[in-house]
Amino acid sequence: MGRDRGGAAIASAGERAADLIGRAAEAQRRATRKALAGRRSAQRLLRMTKAALARVDRTVERVNKLVPPPRPIACGANCPYCCHIRLTASPPEILLVAAHLRRTLTAEVLVTTKRRVANLDHLTRGRDEARREVLRLPCCMLVEGNCAVHAVRPVSCRAVASVDVAACERSYASRMAEPVPQVKLQGTAANGIGYGLIAGLGESGYPLENVEFNAGLHIALESEDATRRWLAGEPVFRPAMEVADER
Ligand code: SF4
Repeated sequence: MGRDRGGAAIASAGERAADLIGRAAEAQRRATRKALAGRRSAQRLLRMTKAALARVDRTVERVNKLVPPPRPIACGANCPYCCHIRLTASPPEILLVAAHLRRTLTAEVLVTTKRRVANLDHLTRGRDEARREVLRLPCCMLVEGNCAVHAVRPVSCRAVASVDVAACERSYASRMAEPVPQVKLQGTAANGIGYGLIAGLGESGYPLENVEFNAGLHIALESEDATRRWLAGEPVFRPAMEVADER
């Protein structure tokens, strides 16, 4: 009987979490549309994107309170193991990272950052997920084991959550052959809002673009007016979406 009551409580917490995620995703879809209604500006786009990332964090926190992970989340800005796989993001997320780098770095560091991004893009452009796992090259924003853009890292980075850093280390050592036990609900929450963001872009007339991060950031950093061009409908990130056939 006690177990039944416990089971029912867990089911209802899960249902409440699912409902919360659905409402947050829907709110994000509307927020994206609103930011792109009327006169479109880079400032409004980037503000909306930053708010979307804050919504991800809030939703993840609430969901993890409703359905606590089996152990505390072990992820942090200075844990590099999962930052060696193929990362994708929507154009607004990539444009936000580029704007953040331009705003926060000195001219000198920005030059070396652009060079690092270009070099990594050269090595990873067009490589699919399986090839990237074998190559095990770091994300272009991983600097000395730290995420250099933790505050504005994309939704996908926020969706990955592990409770076992030793398993992450083993997975890295085995070139991702060994799986990492994930906190699935955190992934569902973060990705739900990511889908809301993308749905709002689609409803505002933009194509559904899943841009490879190294290539996308390279493009965004090289073109000062990438945000304006993308907002105007130019296919700015198309080259960053191609995957080469390496069979
Ligand atoms: S953006 Fe940051 S968190 Fe995401 S993969 Fe790159 S280094 Fe890791």
